[in-house]
Amino acid sequence: MEFWYTEEHTDDVRFSLRVKEHLFSGESEFQKLDILDTHEYGKLMTLDGLVMVTEKDEFVYHDMIVHISMAVNPNVENVLVIGGGDGGTVRELMKYPSIKHVDMVEIDKLVVDASRKYFPAVSCEVDNPRVTVLYEDGIKFIQGKERVYDLILIDSTDPIGPGEGLFTTDFYNNCYKALTEDGILINQNETPVYEKFFEVGISSNKKLKKMFPIVHVYQANIPTYPGGYWLFNFASKKFHPTQDLKESDWNQLGIKTKYYNTDLHKGCFALPNYVKEKIENGAL
Ligand code: SAM
Repeated sequence: MEFWYTEEHTDDVRFSLRVKEHLFSGESEFQKLDILDTHEYGKLMTLDGLVMVTEKDEFVYHDMIVHISMAVNPNVENVLVIGGGDGGTVRELMKYPSIKHVDMVEIDKLVVDASRKYFPAVSCEVDNPRVTVLYEDGIKFIQGKERVYDLILIDSTDPIGPGEGLFTTDFYNNCYKALTEDGILINQNETPVYEKFFEVGISSNKKLKKMFPIVHVYQANIPTYPGGYWLFNFASKKFHPTQDLKESDWNQLGIKTKYYNTDLHKGCFALPNYVKEKIENGAL
């Protein structure tokens, strides 16, 4: 008897993985969490049935949410990660000795606990002394913070459930205030392949452009996310993502990455016309 996990990307598109074993199922006050062991992608974590992280392709997302900004501003000391309960974003941040402290504000302790147990290679730095994990709502946590963080990474779920408020103007405004004068904000910004996701991405990008002087979109291929093609926003008060890339400085750090490199850094901001036009127009 074959067992398959299926995620419905749209009413007409489904993504399925053949499953060896259903390892865990739990429910917090925020969401349902499942851990499945799949043939192709290894262990898979889903939240409310949606893919969050897989052993096989998590490196793409975690490299790309962290290293782009760190190769632009080498003076990042204080970082805020909102969401990121699987620990992959913090793992990549800890590769930088220059980072003094990371606040990881994750609303759901169940995600951190499950990742510690089932994804030890992803959550391996969550207990690093330079990391403070706060089990709070990022929307409330950011309110009232002024010029505290050099970098804010919004490693959230899609704008549903607890993640909904992480895509609003108010929230982005509060992030802007919480950033130092050369601060950078990165958020995962959905896929352009399907309209319902691209609408969210365009709206988020438009809101950030109202606040930040420099906002650019970059891309990565993440096979287990809808469309296999994922966007990120780079929103910055001072630095340009490619003109201010410190290529030789970053390469001299000797940081080991499985996806990111400085050539790819320059290329990932070169968007296809169908994406570029809609992002620039601010409409589908
Ligand atoms: N890489 C994944 C993606 O792109 O879908 C996201 C990974 S991570 C598991 C997303 C995390 O955001 C979840 O652990 C979820 O609990 C957390 N989250 C959602 N809304 C939140 C909020 N308002 N404050 C803090 N964390 C939140």
